[in-house]
Amino acid sequence: MKITISTKGHNDIIDITDKVAEKVKESKVEQGIVLVFVPHQTCAISVLEYEPGLIQDLKDLLNKIAPLKGDYEHNKAWGDGNGAAHLLASLIKPDLTVPLENNHLILGTWQKIILLDFDNRACEREVNITIIAN
Ligand code: ZN
Repeated sequence: MKITISTKGHNDIIDITDKVAEKVKESKVEQGIVLVFVPHQTCAISVLEYEPGLIQDLKDLLNKIAPLKGDYEHNKAWGDGNGAAHLLASLIKPDLTVPLENNHLILGTWQKIILLDFDNRACEREVNITIIAN
């Protein structure tokens, strides 16, 4: 299964919890796991308490770890200016596994599934959702 998300790039952080939960509901799987995977090397999947303060704090942290305008070998070789995006994608990882119980995602009260897009442009992104029953 796939979901498509429009992002603004530039460390955009989007709550995709409801879209993942919809796919879980459609699957009718009661017990198991859901694997959320983004097949783009400028994006990542993680979790966050999705409130404006933390969204900004996470963006600031990402910018400290790998500033967009930093000096990257990738940019010299390819000229696409998104070396920082590729590095952040490697650090944060493209996937997340969440347990399912009674056809619901087992997440903490404030824990939301987020798609991060570090690229230096807006884009449509596909996220793969794999649901495995046990
Ligand atoms: Zn690149």
